Amino acid sequence: MPFIKEEISEEKLESFLKHIAKCKDCYEELEIYYTVHAGIQGLDQDQFTTYDLSGALRMELQEAQERVRFRHAFTVLRIFLGATAIVMTLLAAFFQFKNWL
Ligand SMILES: [Zn+2]
Repeated sequence: MPFIKEEISEEKLESFLKHIAKCKDCYEELEIYYTVHAGIQGLDQDQFTTYDLSGALRMELQEAQERVRFRHAFTVLRIFLGATAIVMTLLAAFFQFKNWL
C-alpha cells in the first residue's frame, strides 16, 4: 500500500522493487491492491474508464526503478567528487609543504 499511495521511503523502495520483480505472489497481490485503489480513486473522481491498469502499474514500477537507478548514479558521483576533493587538498598541501622546505 505505501508504494501505491506513493508514501514508500526511498530505502524501502529499492528492496520492494527487487522483491516484486522476483516474487510472483507479491506482484499479483500488488496488482490487485493497485486495481482496487485505482478503482476507488476513479469512482471518487467519477472518471473510472476502461483503463489499462496492469500496464499503468508496470509503468509506475518502471519509473520507480529509474528513480532508484538515478539515486545510485548520483551517490556514486558524489563519492567520486568527494574523493577527488580530498586528493586535490592533499596534493595542494603536499606542494605547499615542499615549497616550505
Ligand atoms: Zn513475495
